[in-house]
Amino acid sequence: MSEQTARTIAFNKPLLGKAEADAVADVLESGTLRGDGPVTQQVETQMEDWLDIDHVFLTTSCTHALEMAMMVIDVGPGDEVIMPSFNFVSSANAVVLRGATPVFADIRPDTLNIDVDDVADKITPRTKAIVPVHYAGVSCDMEALSALADDHDLYLIEDAAQGVDAYYDGTPLGTIGDIGCYSFHETKNITCGEGGAFLTDDEDLARKAELVREKGTNRSAFIRGEVDRYTWVHEGSSYIPSDILAAILQVQLSKREHIKKQRRTVWNAYYDALRPLAQDGPLHLPPIPDACDSNYHIFFFRVDTSQRRNALLDVLKDHGIDASFHYIPLHSSPFAQQYLDESVTLPTTQQCSETLIRLPLHPQLADDADELAARTADLIATQLR
Ligand SMILES: *Cc1c(COP(=O)(O)O)cnc(C)c1O
Repeated sequence: MSEQTARTIAFNKPLLGKAEADAVADVLESGTLRGDGPVTQQVETQMEDWLDIDHVFLTTSCTHALEMAMMVIDVGPGDEVIMPSFNFVSSANAVVLRGATPVFADIRPDTLNIDVDDVADKITPRTKAIVPVHYAGVSCDMEALSALADDHDLYLIEDAAQGVDAYYDGTPLGTIGDIGCYSFHETKNITCGEGGAFLTDDEDLARKAELVREKGTNRSAFIRGEVDRYTWVHEGSSYIPSDILAAILQVQLSKREHIKKQRRTVWNAYYDALRPLAQDGPLHLPPIPDACDSNYHIFFFRVDTSQRRNALLDVLKDHGIDASFHYIPLHSSPFAQQYLDESVTLPTTQQCSETLIRLPLHPQLADDADELAARTADLIATQLR
């Protein structure tokens, strides 16, 4: 290993230890590896209590939770679903897989969350749902979005993939809309490798979710003894994770306060070190709005041009800091082009995507956070001068 590689600060690294290994060993020993076993049931109940929500279903990913969401609200051909273009592909795929059309809205330049005025402009008689993304673990304006969804009788589905253990006015993200979707992918704050959750307080949506998740059968009702055999009753698929993954997740969830505290230390160190550059320089730091309690999923900032951004990324990488850009806007992607007319322009999305930098952020960086932040800020200052 070269000296350079040895010193590289990885962009992300999950906080895993012996407790996770022991939990996996226990499940293997028990012989019940399938999903919806005793550990899955426990984790779902623990999450329902923590989040104060009636129904949590563990899923194989957030992508799959979003697919379930589109099935249970019955999105189909002719329907439109509004989401940000500055976004991961999952919610757009979930809509396209139903034969419906994703409609891409712009974002705000401060939090990079969906621009509620632009959502309002894009509502048509065909609109069925809005799928906001809580970028970086900082909530969208849920008060405005909830009001808009109510006024137009639309479903509000939270893509809270990045929002586990973050809050809006004290309420957990993912529990505010009709449905919330979580991710436990390795790159997220709380992880079991690949995994997710589907959250809802709505009894009808929960009953449908249970069928969809269990291959469209009423097997769950059968296991509860409510029917004497189970059969095909709905469209569905296989979205249930193994109890092995649930066991890892259970340990990770028990560490969530520690994980958030460590991440906050790193986030604050970067923020304080970069603040002088943001005062009069061409560097923009993200605000955390008053109503939002972040989980510090991402530390990002923006500069004024894409040339400057790309040069900064090169310098940071050359010095062993694995900084990164983020989403290429979906509306400009080759696959989305076939759904869009030529006239779609989303200026803030375009500008932010081209000028954004994310810095390495994971719990293990907390102990040396001040040193890392100072070194990072020095490199950036030299480059911006
Ligand atoms: C990570 C992520 C997803 C996908 O989560 P998976 O669990 O990997 O399917 C979806 N949406 C957003 C905004 C994400 O950050």
